[in-house]
Parts: sequence; C-alpha cells; structure tokens
Amino acid sequence: MADEKGLTQSILVVGGGISGLTTAVEAAEAGREVFIVEKRPYLGGRVAQLNQYFPKLCPPSCGLEINFRRIKQNYRIKLFTMAEVETVSGEEGNFDVTIKLNPRYVNENCTACGECAKVVTSEIPNEYNYNMDKIKAAYLPHDMAFPMRYVIAPEIIGTEEATKAKEACAYDAVDLEMQPETVDLKVAAIVWATGWNPYDANSIENLGFGKVPNVINNVMMERLAAFDGPTGGKIIRPSDGKPVESVAFVQCAGSRDENYMPFCSHICCLASLKQTTYVREQIPDAKVSIFYIDIRALGKYEDFYTKVAADENVSLIKGKVAKVEADPASDQILVEAEDIYGGTKSQAKVDLVVLATGMEPSTATDKVPTDVAYDESGFIVSETPGIYATGCARKPLDVATANRDATGVALKAIQSSVRR
Ligand SMILES: Cc1cc2nc3c(=O)[nH]c(=O)nc-3n(C[C@H](O)[C@H](O)[C@H](O)COP(=O)(O)OP(=O)(O)OC[C@H]3O[C@@H](n4cnc5c(N)ncnc54)[C@H](O)[C@@H]3O)c2cc1C
Ligand code: SF4
Ligand code: SF4
Repeated sequence: MADEKGLTQSILVVGGGISGLTTAVEAAEAGREVFIVEKRPYLGGRVAQLNQYFPKLCPPSCGLEINFRRIKQNYRIKLFTMAEVETVSGEEGNFDVTIKLNPRYVNENCTACGECAKVVTSEIPNEYNYNMDKIKAAYLPHDMAFPMRYVIAPEIIGTEEATKAKEACAYDAVDLEMQPETVDLKVAAIVWATGWNPYDANSIENLGFGKVPNVINNVMMERLAAFDGPTGGKIIRPSDGKPVESVAFVQCAGSRDENYMPFCSHICCLASLKQTTYVREQIPDAKVSIFYIDIRALGKYEDFYTKVAADENVSLIKGKVAKVEADPASDQILVEAEDIYGGTKSQAKVDLVVLATGMEPSTATDKVPTDVAYDESGFIVSETPGIYATGCARKPLDVATANRDATGVALKAIQSSVRR
C-alpha cells in the first residue's frame, strides 16, 4: 500500500496477542494495510490460554472471536503465523523488514477434519497446556485455534508417520516438502506487541517449583481449570489425580524481589482471586489460603477482591512465604510464612500450591532486531521514531488496559505513515 508519492503506508505488527490484534484491526479499519507476524501457529497469545478472564469472568473466546471476525472480514490484514522478524533497517516511514516463515507442513486446504492426527501415534509436549500433557505430533493447537489449521510437528518430518499423515489427508493439505521461507516487506511503522512470558519459577529457590509435587504456577492453574485443559477442567492434583481440598496461593512469587523480578506485575493478585473462585465454585468445601505482601486490586477491581475476601472458606494471610516443601508425614505440602498481623509464623498444610508468578516481557530475552531502548527488566521504553511497543511488551497490563494502549498505538503508527 503506497501514498501519492509512492511511499509505503503499511504497518507491521509483531505479536498476535490481544494487543497486537487490537492495533492491527484498528489500523486496518482506518484504511491501512497491516501485516501481523506471530511466532506461534495461532493467534490470541496468552489470553487464549486463560480459563476465564476478569472483570466479567467470561471465556477468552468471547473477546478474541470478535477480533478474529474483524480480521477475516478485512482484506487489508495479512497474517503470517509461525513467523518471526529477522531484520529491520531504514527509518520511520520507510522500513525494510525480513520475515522468516517456519514450515507448518499443512497448507490452506486444511479443513481441520483431524484424519491426519488419527494415524499419528508420536506425541510432543503440549505447549498450549504449559506442557502439563502431550499432544499428537499432527495437531490442532487448541479447539478454538485461529487459523483453524493443523500443524505437523517438525519432530516427525522424514519419518513414516509423516508419510501416513499425508496419505490420510483427503484434501491434499499435508505438504511435507515445505521449507522455511523469507518474505521482504516495506512498512512505514512497526508495532512490537510480543507480550510476556510467565516468570520462570524454577529459578525461585525456596518455593518448591519443579521439586515438590503439586506446586504449580498461575498460568498452569488456568489450564487446570479449563474444560479443554489437561484434566478436562477438573481441579485435581496433577501428580496423582487425587481430589484437592485445600489450596495455597503464594503471591509475589519471584516478584517485587531484587533477587528475581523487581517490579509488580499488577495482575497476579487479581489472577489468584479469580482462581480462588474457580476452586470454590468447583469444590464446595475447599479451603483457600492466600499469602500476600499487599493485595493489588485497583479501581473497579476492588469490588472483586471484597467479594472473594468475604468467603468464609478463604483466608488472606499477610506475610511473605519463606518455604514450600513436601510434608514428610503425608503426601501434602507445607507452606511456611510470617503472619504479619498475627505476629507469629504461620504454617499451612495443603493439597495444591499455586505460585502467583509475574509477567516477564518476552523482550527480556528475545530482543527487537534493531536499536530500541529497554528498561532494566526488558520492557521496551524506546521512542525510536516509527517503532512502537504496546501491551505487555511495554508494561504489565490487564486485557482492558492493553486494548486501550493498543488502540492508541494504532494512531501513532498511522501518524508515522503520513509524517513525511
Ligand atoms: C495468571 C494470569 C491470569 C491472567 N488473567 C487475566 C484476566 O483474567 N483478565 C485480564 O484482563 N488479564 C489477565 N491476565 C493478563 C493478560 O494475560 C495480559 O493482559 C495479556 O496477555 C496481554 O496481551 P499481549 O498481547 O500484550 O501479550 P501476549 O498475550 O503475551 O501476546 C503476545 C503475542 O506475541 C507473540 N510473540 C512473542 N514473541 C514474538 C516474536 N518474537 N515474534 C512474533 N510473535 C511473538 C506471542 O506468541 C503472543 O501470541 C492474566 C495474566 C496472568 C499471568
Ligand atoms: S491436514 Fe488434512 S487430514 Fe489433517 S486436519 Fe487438515 S485436512 Fe484433515
Ligand atoms: S500483583 Fe500482587 S502478587 Fe503480583 S507482584 Fe503485584 S503485589 Fe505481588
């Protein structure tokens, strides 16, 4: 798409989570051509992996589907999945970008009939469920995936199984000869919307993650409660499938701590309050303990906090957790914390521990391939003309705020395409 001087007016959006999708549809509906580059095989980002999302506690599909429909209806949006930006050069109004497309081994003929998966027996870790279960090596990433198209995992390429998958496909959709490709684009503005990763709880020494059975993090808890999750939505102990009668949430797990992540992720208090409602609705007698330093539920979210806190089966204990360890006398978990209000040490014995880990920007490890500035935690702070960051690539945000941020950035990107 070019202006009257022949200069590009197109916009590149990197990351197809809620922030990137919002910028893309807003800019496209204002008349700009938009390229979305998403590294996973599907759009929706981390929101697609939630069970429900506040404030309304609706399933993620209700917010995402509207955007998918707007994308389908808009010929100005071009979508690249399993893709990443390799190089960026040029300047505001005139960037050259190289995109690498990784092979899906399934083309656009795919009807998602699932016949290829029936003949494949090999399994790979299920990234959608945070590796809590496995998925066939010919797979649809999840039931509501957009685009609704299967993937053949590279792990089986060159094997007899891949050939069987090809033979099972009546639509000539399996293409085992697909190779990585490079696409060159000219764009006027670039929006970096690559979001966040859950902070790696393995690196927190005292909280038992990866060492003590049934200690999980908050993103895993979303999948444990989801109907399409590893347990079909049953909140049970991941280690042995036994019922859960007591849960402890450990707030600020690795957050607001100079040894790990110094900042507050703004969302994980609300996430634990939300997940408390998952437990209490599903298991009527379950007891929930929330260990916190401060509860951060600002603005309109205060009411949600008040409602959850009023539940007599929910205890809020102000105190930093010192230790999470297996109980030597049972198959439960011991959580030891200071009890600031009680002036004592507090100990809970529970079936499941959920670490409320924070949101680390994906740019902490995966940098923009051109010159932009970051803060000490890796969030993009750059005001490089023509390159913008939005959503959780810029700061930890909830969905509603990310939407507003991304809408504003669509305007900024459009301005970059006319400022010359
Ligand atoms: C446990 C938990 C529960 C939450 N629950 C709620 C809730 O109930 N309500 C609410 O409002 N918010 C909730 N949030 C916050 C919510 O998840 C974020 O607001 C939202 O994910 C922000 O979207 P985003 O698009 O900025 O980032 P993301 O969702 O992370 O999307 C980024 C996208 O970019 C892609 N990407 C990453 N790197 C690259 C790359 N190099 N190239 C191409 N693509 C790339 C990713 O694959 C992803 O699709 C929760 C957060 C946590 C931790
Ligand atoms: S690749 Fe073929 S067999 Fe597999 S789901 Fe798609 S159409 Fe069906
Ligand atoms: S939102 Fe709550 S749990 Fe998360 S870092 Fe901030 S205070 Fe800690």
